Amino acid sequence: MLISDIIQSLEKFAPLAYQETYDNCGLLVGNSTLPCTGVICTLDVTSAVVEEAKQKNCNLIVAHHPIIFGGIRKIVGNNEVEKTLISAIKNDIAIYACHTNLDNIFYGVNHQIAERLGLNNRKILQPKANILSKLFVFVPKSSVDKVRNALFNAGAGTIANYSECSFNTSGEGTFMGNEFSNPTIGKQFIRETVDEVKIEVIFPSYLQYHIIEQMKLAHPYEEVAYDIVPLSNQNQQVGSGMLGELETEMSETEFLQLLSHQFCLKSIKHTKLLNKPIKKVAFCGGAGSFLIKNAIAAKADIYISSDIKYHEFFDAEDKIVVADMCHWESEQFTIELLIEIIRAKTPTFAVLKSEVNTNPVSYFTV
Ligand SMILES: [Zn+2]
Repeated sequence: MLISDIIQSLEKFAPLAYQETYDNCGLLVGNSTLPCTGVICTLDVTSAVVEEAKQKNCNLIVAHHPIIFGGIRKIVGNNEVEKTLISAIKNDIAIYACHTNLDNIFYGVNHQIAERLGLNNRKILQPKANILSKLFVFVPKSSVDKVRNALFNAGAGTIANYSECSFNTSGEGTFMGNEFSNPTIGKQFIRETVDEVKIEVIFPSYLQYHIIEQMKLAHPYEEVAYDIVPLSNQNQQVGSGMLGELETEMSETEFLQLLSHQFCLKSIKHTKLLNKPIKKVAFCGGAGSFLIKNAIAAKADIYISSDIKYHEFFDAEDKIVVADMCHWESEQFTIELLIEIIRAKTPTFAVLKSEVNTNPVSYFTV
């Protein structure tokens, strides 16, 4: 088992292409070609976590939050981040971050929250646009199945819960090769007319190189005729925040009690209760004040997130209850998710949950 094998499972589940532009996901420290001795999963990387990894003989730390974020100009040990990085490098411990790419996928951070709250009819609250493309490829009839299968196997043709989606139209293709050509069908300098099928498939744009490569391998022609068109459609499976519904509605205080119980909360900051039942719940793990307006537009009864500032609470405008459950608490189950993703591929491999409590916030209760 190499470190790169673990990284591959993580990136298949949460593609790096889905991270936000400001983010810094991926391998941040270490050499992915080395054998992996064990993995430790955490929300944050601190020197205590590196020490724990060393003690438990794990040379890979998989974290939600990237320890290198927003640039670093020197590594001389002047602060906790620099000290942690020096300690990781000295001990040959690799650090990998799976952050907003894990936030933005359907079965990511928010799915964990939805599970704990028992929500149905889940949808991405703010789906991303401009991350899908469409491929049109012209194939002689005898090779249609082979090319279509290659496209599906390479990741094309998936729309939400449906895979192997394509549209196929029959027609006639014409071509004539010059003196340098080597046509599969027909001869040089003679116009050939062939019964062809135009296959149309949608695909995530980040897979373009791989899909075109596989398409060409399966296609019998020397020169494959194809078009790629970027789509402005939203990808309903990728984006920020989530929306879900409770099986049966409950009062606001009952819901806050449920939230508090399921996430072991010491406090919840919230806007004025509106004395309306809660049925539709919008939420976003981590800092999610940017989605308050989306939650209102989606007619959610409550919006749960964290790191909501004083002035942002005003955005509720008595249209919704906005509740802040604190950052670490909202993402705590992400650690289990990281473990699940890695174990799914390597069930017997040592994948541990860090025992270090990295939450920098404590609560004073009277
Ligand atoms: Zn976070």
